[in-house]
Amino acid sequence: MSKGSINVSVENIFPLIKKFLYSDHEIFLRELISNATDATTKLKHLISIGEAKVEYGNPMIEIKIDSKKKRLHIIDQGIGMTAEEVEKYINQIAFSGAEEFLEKYKDDKNETGVIGHFGLGFYSAFMVADKVEIITKSFKEEPAAHWTCDGSPEYTLVENKKEERGTEIILHIAEDSKEFLEDPKIRELLTKYNRFNQVPIKFGTKKVNDPDFEPKTIKDKDGKESKEPHKQIEVDDIINNTNPAWTKKPADLEDDDYKNFYRELYPMQFEESLFHIHLNVDYPFNLTGILYFPKLTQNLDVQKDRIQLYQNQVFVTDNVEGIVPDFLQMLKGVIDSPDIPLNVSRSYLQADGAVKKISGYITKKVADKLSSLFKNNREDFEKKWNDIKVIIEYGMLSEEKFFDKAKKFALYPSVDDKFYTFEEFLKETKDAQTDKEGNHIILYAANKDAQHSYIQEAKNKGYEVLLLDSPIVSHLMQKLETSEEKIRFTRVDSDHIDNLIKKDDNVISKLSDEEKEKLKPMIEESVPKETYTVQLEAMDSNASPFLITVPEFMRRMKEMSATGGGMMGMGNLPEMYNLVVNTNHELVSQILNTKTEQKRKRLIKQAFDLAKLSQNLLHGEELTDFVKRSYELIK
Ligand code: ADP
Repeated sequence: MSKGSINVSVENIFPLIKKFLYSDHEIFLRELISNATDATTKLKHLISIGEAKVEYGNPMIEIKIDSKKKRLHIIDQGIGMTAEEVEKYINQIAFSGAEEFLEKYKDDKNETGVIGHFGLGFYSAFMVADKVEIITKSFKEEPAAHWTCDGSPEYTLVENKKEERGTEIILHIAEDSKEFLEDPKIRELLTKYNRFNQVPIKFGTKKVNDPDFEPKTIKDKDGKESKEPHKQIEVDDIINNTNPAWTKKPADLEDDDYKNFYRELYPMQFEESLFHIHLNVDYPFNLTGILYFPKLTQNLDVQKDRIQLYQNQVFVTDNVEGIVPDFLQMLKGVIDSPDIPLNVSRSYLQADGAVKKISGYITKKVADKLSSLFKNNREDFEKKWNDIKVIIEYGMLSEEKFFDKAKKFALYPSVDDKFYTFEEFLKETKDAQTDKEGNHIILYAANKDAQHSYIQEAKNKGYEVLLLDSPIVSHLMQKLETSEEKIRFTRVDSDHIDNLIKKDDNVISKLSDEEKEKLKPMIEESVPKETYTVQLEAMDSNASPFLITVPEFMRRMKEMSATGGGMMGMGNLPEMYNLVVNTNHELVSQILNTKTEQKRKRLIKQAFDLAKLSQNLLHGEELTDFVKRSYELIK
């Protein structure tokens, strides 16, 4: 038997470890299973190069709860350690690692979330146990060793009779960590961190139908035939899939394999994904993974499913900020890389060259995939557009390189569901939609129902109208307007539309200039002048008499400040509208020629309310009054 004192400067390191990792106690299990996995794969390697002359067999890692004795066992069949190796690896190396870790992080109060991503290794066991034992038998011909430590720097190391190769870690679970003696808790952790572990993990047993049993047909006393009940047998409950899809070659996978893996990854997700991207690089960094474009959904639970980051098939986090570009955070799937430095802070991570390259690589792969989908099956791409447009538009705004590629496949649907690329749309509408200053006007609607009458008006004039209704599209318009010359996006109900309508020079005004001068103050008197600017226009006599338009610039500023993007603090922009009066409309002549002032005011009021109604601007008391008045009229 040997006794010793672990050579550390901190008198008692364990209370510190405990305090430090308070929020992340549960990672001890992941750490111990990682060690067990390493020990197993190391053995496999030694056998393959001829350095270990033992039978590999079908090794697994077993997790056992002994609730009576309040112990948790982690047992592997890996390389094991000799007494000498325990001295070296556990007493010296692992300890110095733990100490170094504390040195590094003890002043770092803001990064607690990161600490859990740092592999503290074996000593994280002391976060939940007040005594830890290691019983280990090396694959070498040497007796087994038994190490015990109660959390003070003293330990004992004695010989042990263990015959089977491998290591058993026994945790004497501390009073305040009893949750780790509960079956469901351990199962939850195994599922969270180790569902794709490289070595099978056994946790208890389960009953299954005996595959060798063939139920016989039996007859009851009335002669009725039935099958006898299936025989059940007890088998090891293996909780993990050691060969998840992302570790395989794309060439070996069918479409269905990807679909099945999506379901395996997100069992609560009932919608299928739209398409997937298989990532596979080995230079200048190692990275594998599968990303899925999800269907848009209102289901918040499903939205919570995020991209999961693994390191050699061990779950690390589902916060992939900094590693996956922001605009792709809405994707789902898995990324696995041994090269991502996890033991550093997030701000460091974002500045890290390798991480930047990873982010750039993912952006490129996604753009290439979208581009090939667009080229190979445009019809299908158009069908998916509504589900993916937000992601793509966000990407075009935030990543210049993505913008350059996406320009060629980003789609702009018309109100009649015809899909154009930007270039196609410009070509199609070039002659018809250019205003007097030579600006190419791109007419769009944000809501087919709310802007119905305006869309109709524009279509009657032969204009093509796009339906651009995603929340950040106003930012994208701004970007396109600045990157292309002489392009003006104009909503169908905005003031710029006048430029186009006025182009129709064939319409002659029915009113003389004198009459117009008389009319304008009449109307201005009846509408709130801080909000409405009255404009007289000679339009087609079939067009509406009163038309409310919104200054495009003002409205877009408001939208952009509502969705962020450097326009903050402009949320208090005043409401401003134009009231366009069609001087060729019969009702307008009537207003002008009405004898009594009371009747004139009534006509203006009713027409103005109707115009407001079609712009969804009539609310509350005003609306109630309007409805009442209208009933009076039809009585
Ligand atoms: P790390 O795994 O990062 O090296 P740990 O503190 O977890 O640090 O472990 C220290 C060392 O102890 C390991 O490198 C390994 O040599 C040895 N070790 C730990 N667990 C096992 C195990 N289950 N089987 C064999 N060796 C182990």
